[in-house]
Amino acid sequence: MKPPVVVVGGGPAGLMAAQVLSEQGLQVDLYEAMPSVGRKLLVAGSSGLNLTHAGPIDQLLEHYRECRSQLEPLIRKFGPEDIRQWAQDLGINTFVGSSGRVFPEGMKSANLLKNWEKHLLSSGVRLHLSHRWKGWDPQKQLYFDAPSAETSISASAVVLALGGGSWPQLGSTGAWTKQLQGCGVLVRPLRPSNCGFDVQWSEHFCARFEGQAVKSVTIIFTNSKGMRYLQRGDFVITKTGLEGSPIYTLSAYLRDEIEATGSAVIHIDLAPDWTAAQLVERLVRPRGSRSISNHIQKSTGLKGVKSGLLREFLPREVFDHPEKLASGMKTLPVRLESARPLAEAISSAGGVSFKALDRNLMLHKLPGVFCAGEMLDWEAPTGGYLLTACLATGRAAGVGVMEWLGKI
Ligand SMILES: Cc1cc2nc3c(=O)[nH]c(=O)nc-3n(C[C@H](O)[C@H](O)[C@H](O)COP(=O)(O)OP(=O)(O)OC[C@H]3O[C@@H](n4cnc5c(N)ncnc54)[C@H](O)[C@@H]3O)c2cc1C
Repeated sequence: MKPPVVVVGGGPAGLMAAQVLSEQGLQVDLYEAMPSVGRKLLVAGSSGLNLTHAGPIDQLLEHYRECRSQLEPLIRKFGPEDIRQWAQDLGINTFVGSSGRVFPEGMKSANLLKNWEKHLLSSGVRLHLSHRWKGWDPQKQLYFDAPSAETSISASAVVLALGGGSWPQLGSTGAWTKQLQGCGVLVRPLRPSNCGFDVQWSEHFCARFEGQAVKSVTIIFTNSKGMRYLQRGDFVITKTGLEGSPIYTLSAYLRDEIEATGSAVIHIDLAPDWTAAQLVERLVRPRGSRSISNHIQKSTGLKGVKSGLLREFLPREVFDHPEKLASGMKTLPVRLESARPLAEAISSAGGVSFKALDRNLMLHKLPGVFCAGEMLDWEAPTGGYLLTACLATGRAAGVGVMEWLGKI
């Protein structure tokens, strides 16, 4: 009997590959290291699962930056509309939320994952949980650590969908990088993406403001090559630095700058709806017996953590000069010392280079072995772009297997 197609990794990319293959009548065996599939998908849904992004496809593709050309053909074949249809076919309606983000009704991923698993089982996919893939044995069989014993398995084709290296407690540890490098596959080091950054807060500032959100600001970042990026939103003060949506969106540029120069300086516009001249006009108003903090609050509305940030980063004498103070409010410099570790990041950069893959995501060095999902060398900001590429590459790897086996 012909060996089954083996999918290793039960995240969104692996589950999608398994779906494509099983729906075409192939016997699929899916091996997952953890006692259940889709753990990261479940956690991703805990604060609202952003499945994909509606709106012009060209705008969506821009978010994959230098990997756009590799991902574009795959996402054009399975893009936001297909993802919404796929979710609906699994009994989960979706809706377009603020700024084009697409969510499942109810925002969570539990029902989607439950229905997906049920669909796969009814399509004949055999799940092998708590099986961690360790590489290939001397007979070129896939080799697993399983609860009962170590086991080797033959496969007619393999899809590896092993994820990146963030949140390793959910199953994806990035240990596969060494196994594939050992086979001569070009794998770029995994690095944090969509991550927080370290700032040297004073003890006083941290004790007072840790956990507080800095709302509705614009982050301005100009790198050492003169490229300028702007991002509006809220961020959060953490014990070690800062994190939050605008920081995640800029994280690739900030991380690259820190790697190149040792640190990255962002400028925060604490009052993005006002010009510096408007701020000056208010700051020069007589303050009477009010303290300077009170005057700033009364005249410009900046208070609490925003006022704390001014105190943390502006020299004392600036507070006596309305022009300099207004300039500080519009472009408050904050030095980021380092990116937070990969284990804490939302996602990974780096992974299997597209140079190591053919157009169907099959490894040149290992014919019959395909790769999909976050383990590939691309990165994108949060906003649904991560899952979109994971699902599109999972589907492409499944279709690639069909072609390799001569089924299409
Ligand atoms: C907190 C958080 C929130 C997120 N929110 C969003 C969001 O709203 N929208 C969005 O687009 N993205 C989001 N993401 C990112 C998204 O969840 C991931 O990009 C996506 O899950 C990656 O899919 P994947 O299938 O490539 O890898 P994974 O989901 O990591 O799955 C890989 C699977 O492979 C298994 N595995 C690993 N190694 C082995 C091995 N050796 N043997 C067997 N099995 C193995 C793992 O246990 C895991 O189950 C979020 C991530 C986090 C951490």
